[in-house]
Amino acid sequence: MSQSSSSARVERVAEASLPCAYGEFRIVAFQGKQGDREQELVVLKYGDLGDQEKAPLVRIHSQCMTGEVFGSERCDCGPQLQMAMRLISEEGNGVLVYDPQEGRGIGILNKIRAYELQDQGADTVEANEALGFEADERDYRLAVAVLLDLGIQRVRFLSNNPAKVAALEEAGIEVVERVPCEPSSSDQATAYLKTKREKLGHLIDGL
Ligand SMILES: [Zn+2]
Repeated sequence: MSQSSSSARVERVAEASLPCAYGEFRIVAFQGKQGDREQELVVLKYGDLGDQEKAPLVRIHSQCMTGEVFGSERCDCGPQLQMAMRLISEEGNGVLVYDPQEGRGIGILNKIRAYELQDQGADTVEANEALGFEADERDYRLAVAVLLDLGIQRVRFLSNNPAKVAALEEAGIEVVERVPCEPSSSDQATAYLKTKREKLGHLIDGL
């Protein structure tokens, strides 16, 4: 992340209530634009974000169709999303940015190509690199721009990923605390998470 968030622009399009299993959220839709790239993002908000005494609990959650929709045990994205929504509602205020960068930014088709290689023995990083991608192609500037649009300046940040922390700090958002997001996971996801820890620098203790 070498560029500032100023090149990413987001426009708030609509907002509505979203009653969920974990409580009554507000869902806010944004149209994002960064260079030639256009992206739709949605945010779940909970509680009063204007309370500056207590920094809101914030997560930037990257889309994972297989984990979230189908309950795949290849990764822990589904349980992470549920944990984040539950913790935010328990805290009483917070934001989840749902960032549509499927497959660490390579898209669903390439992610399944990578799974095919993983079925033949590659780990998640080797598979992405064999397909000609970086190990992690994600760019968090649009997600960060959404947080800035919501007026968020200080956060307790729910993440295991130092690159996301760096993206917030580069944009001038103060991370007062990093809160781990480590739901219990399947054996298969454990191997995946070990690769993320060892090759991508994720901060994961409970393996
Ligand atoms: Zn996943």
